[in-house]
Amino acid sequence: STTARTPAVTVRRGESTAVGDLPARGVFIGGRFRATRSDEVLEVVDPCSEQVLASIPAGSAEDVDLAVAAAREAAPGWAALLPKERSQILHRVADRIGEHAGVLAELESANTGKPVMVARDDVDNTVDTFRFMAGALRAPTSQAAGTYAESHLSVILREPLGVVGVVTPWNYPLLMAAWKIAPILAAGNTMVVKPSEQTPLTTLKLAELLADVLPPGVLNVVAGLGPVVGARLAEHPDIAMIALTGSVRSGRAVARGAAESLKRVHLELGGKAPVVILPDADLAAAAASLRTAAFWNSGQECGAACRVLVHESVAETFVALLVDEVSTLVIGEPGAGEDVEIGPMISRDHYDRVTGYLERAHAAGVRAVIGGGPLEERGYFIAPTVLVDVPEGAECAREEIFGPVVTVETFLDEEEAIRRANDVPYGLSASVWTNDARRSHGLAARLDSGTVWVNCHLVLANEVPWGGFKGSGYGRDLSIYALDDYSRTKHVMHNVVSTSHRNPVSGEAP
Ligand code: NAD
Repeated sequence: STTARTPAVTVRRGESTAVGDLPARGVFIGGRFRATRSDEVLEVVDPCSEQVLASIPAGSAEDVDLAVAAAREAAPGWAALLPKERSQILHRVADRIGEHAGVLAELESANTGKPVMVARDDVDNTVDTFRFMAGALRAPTSQAAGTYAESHLSVILREPLGVVGVVTPWNYPLLMAAWKIAPILAAGNTMVVKPSEQTPLTTLKLAELLADVLPPGVLNVVAGLGPVVGARLAEHPDIAMIALTGSVRSGRAVARGAAESLKRVHLELGGKAPVVILPDADLAAAAASLRTAAFWNSGQECGAACRVLVHESVAETFVALLVDEVSTLVIGEPGAGEDVEIGPMISRDHYDRVTGYLERAHAAGVRAVIGGGPLEERGYFIAPTVLVDVPEGAECAREEIFGPVVTVETFLDEEEAIRRANDVPYGLSASVWTNDARRSHGLAARLDSGTVWVNCHLVLANEVPWGGFKGSGYGRDLSIYALDDYSRTKHVMHNVVSTSHRNPVSGEAP
C-alpha cells in the first residue's frame, strides 16, 4: 500500500493466541469426520502475525453430495421427534457450547484476530440463540386450527422443508453459523453448512463438540471454497433451501445457482447503516454509542454505524465528541489484554480493499480527522478513522467498506436526511437520534431498513428479527420469523359434519 502509515497510534502486541485445540481434520458427514475427496487444503492465517495457523482439508462437490445424502437420510427421524424432544437436544447443544466457551472463543480470536471481548460475546450469544430456538420451537406459532368454511375444520401446520444448505461469512464465523443452525434444526430440518474458507475452525470445532449430542447426519459441515462447495450446495437438487450470509456478489451467485431447482433462497447481505442525528439529540450519548456501534468487531459488521448524517448546526460539536471517543479506542492483538477493542482486518485482501477505499477518499478531497490509514507493518491493522468533508454520493459513503471507518455528512432538513439515508443500494439497518418521539416515529417509518434503532445502534436480541431490504437481501434471522422462514406451511381441511354426500363447499345435502 502507498498510504502513509498512521504513526501516532500503536498496536498493542500480546502473546500469540494459543491454538492448541484445533478441530479434527476432514469433513463432518453423518456424525463423524472423514477424509475429503480432494487434495486441496485451506490455509488458515492469523491476521495479527500473518502466519499460517492451520491447514484444513478443503471439501469438494463430491463431499457435498455425500453430506446431502447423509442429511437426507437423517431428515425423517429428526422431523419425527416431538417438539419437546428436539428442544431438549437443542438445550444440550447450548450446554455443550457453554462448557467449551473458552476453547471456542480462543479459536475464534486466533483465526480472526478479533478482541477477546468480541469473541466471548459471540460465544455467549451463540448459546442464547440455541436456547431461544429450543424454547421457541415448542410454541405453536403459525400453527392454528379453526373453522373458516361451514362444517369444516382447518388445521394449519408448520412443516420442515427437508435438507437446508448454509453458507457463512468470516466476520462472526461461529455466531453466523449458530444464527442458521439453531432455527433450521429447531424447525425440524437437517442441514449442510459451509463455513468461510478463511474461518472454518470454530464451525468444525462445533461439529466435533456436538458429535454425540445431535443424531448422525442432522448437522454436516463441509469446509471449502465458495465457488466449489457453496455453488454445489446452491444447485443441489436434494436441497430444499439455501441460506447465505455474505456479500452481494455471493448472494447473486447463490440465487442464480438455486434458480434451476427452484429452491428457496435466504440472503443476509451487506449494509451501510445511516446514523441520522437531529439537532435536539443527546450528542454525547450518540458519540459514546458509536464507539461500540461503529467499531465493534473492528467495523467488520454488517450493521455497523458507519455513515453519520448529522444536522449541520451540531456537526462540529458531534465530530469533536466522536473523535474524543475514537482517540481512546484500544487497538491490539487478542493476546494483548481483555480491554483491547480493535483488532486487525481479516485478511491481506480485505486490508487492501479497506486501504484502497481510504486512498480514493483522500484523493477525492475527503479528510480524516482521526486515523485515515493502515498502522504497523505486521498484521492487517487499520487505524480507527473518521472521515469528514464527504461530498454527496462519495464512494466512501455509498459502498460497504467493512472496516473501522465512519463517514460524516451533514444535512439541513429532515427531507434531505431521509433522502440521503435511503440513497444507497443497501437497507439492512439504520438509527435515528432525537429526543422528540414524534420525529423518531416519522423517520423510522420512512427509512428503508429492516431494523431502525432509536437513540441506540447495534443492540440485538434473539427475540427480534434481523434482515434486510433492497440490496441487503431477504429472509429473516433470529426470532420466530427465522423459524417460519425455515418451514413450509400446510393447510389441511377436514369435513367435520358428515362423510356422506354434502357439498364440500356449501355444506348442503344434495
Ligand atoms: P463473501 O460473500 O465473500 O463470502 C461469504 C460466503 O460465501 C463464504 O463462505 C464464501 O465462500 C461464499 N461464497 C463465495 N462465492 C460463492 C459462490 N459463488 N457460491 C456460493 N458461495 C459462495 O462475504 P464475506 O467477505 O465472507 O463476508 C462479508 C460480507 O458479509 C459483507 O458484505 C457483510 O455485510 C456480509 N454480512 C452480512 C450479515 C447480515 O446479517 N446481513 C452478517 C455478516 C456479514
